[in-house]
Amino acid sequence: MTTTKCPSCGTEHAAGTLAKALYICPRCGTYLHIPARERITMLADPRAFKELDRGLVSVDPLRFTDQRSYRERLAEARRRTGLREAVVIGEARLEGRPVVLVVFDFDFMGGTMGSVVGEKIADAFEHATRRRWPVVSVVASGGARMQEGMLSLMQMAKTAAARAGHDRAGLAHIAVLTDPTFGGVAASFASLADILIAEPGAEIGFVGPRNRPDPQRAAARRFPPRRGPLPCRHGRSRCREAGASRHGRVSGRPPQPPQCPARACGACTLRRRCDPQRPGAVASAAMAHGAAGAPCRPPDVPGIHHAAIRTVR
Ligand SMILES: [Zn+2]
Repeated sequence: MTTTKCPSCGTEHAAGTLAKALYICPRCGTYLHIPARERITMLADPRAFKELDRGLVSVDPLRFTDQRSYRERLAEARRRTGLREAVVIGEARLEGRPVVLVVFDFDFMGGTMGSVVGEKIADAFEHATRRRWPVVSVVASGGARMQEGMLSLMQMAKTAAARAGHDRAGLAHIAVLTDPTFGGVAASFASLADILIAEPGAEIGFVGPRNRPDPQRAAARRFPPRRGPLPCRHGRSRCREAGASRHGRVSGRPPQPPQCPARACGACTLRRRCDPQRPGAVASAAMAHGAAGAPCRPPDVPGIHHAAIRTVR
């Protein structure tokens, strides 16, 4: 029988017991990680979820090895979770309202954001922008995926740019930050939501527990502080209704005109470029604006992301 140990009180729980308790420890009340599929079932209306980008998989662009190779770690994470990557995105309904859902699975390599995770999140925001739907994200991530090096850090710009486009269209993003939300995920699209909600006990910040030099300073970063995310008061049993009600309150802002980061032309922005020769692959994110007064043009970025993403059936 599969059991899960509560990290706070050490009690071993059978998988069925935890699922019934919505992954809240029945003994001490700690909020534990929820598998992405179960979170979607909890959040979306029954039979209303349609997955997007299911075919995108990570490859090993840097041929990275530490104690074990990246390929081995990916294969093991896929076996353990039944997922292809650390995030699942798709169309869904919350109490009948259409949304795009972005749900992380912490058990897949710590919910880290590599090229495919970044690509799926950017796609989720762009899909939602085309449909004029809000995005609801449920985040659980240790941050960037070190096995993809610099490619992983570039996902911060890519996902933030996609959210910026969604925001300019006047569309809402609600982020539920669960334990833990760290690094490049906390420092990009996750913090760019209109409403940030933190689950009880969630550690949220830039530096994770392994890299903290001083436990007192680390404790000071524990949320919710006075001006942090909203505490999740409704619990996991009512997250669908609560999400739908918040969605109703923040939707319907007027679209904003695109703004040049350098305020040079007023029409350019951070952008992603698709390579027509390789469907499903995305070149990069880059700042694209001309000098003051000069016309803007697409950035001349080599297609280095192509090395990191593959599409499968
Ligand atoms: Zn416990």
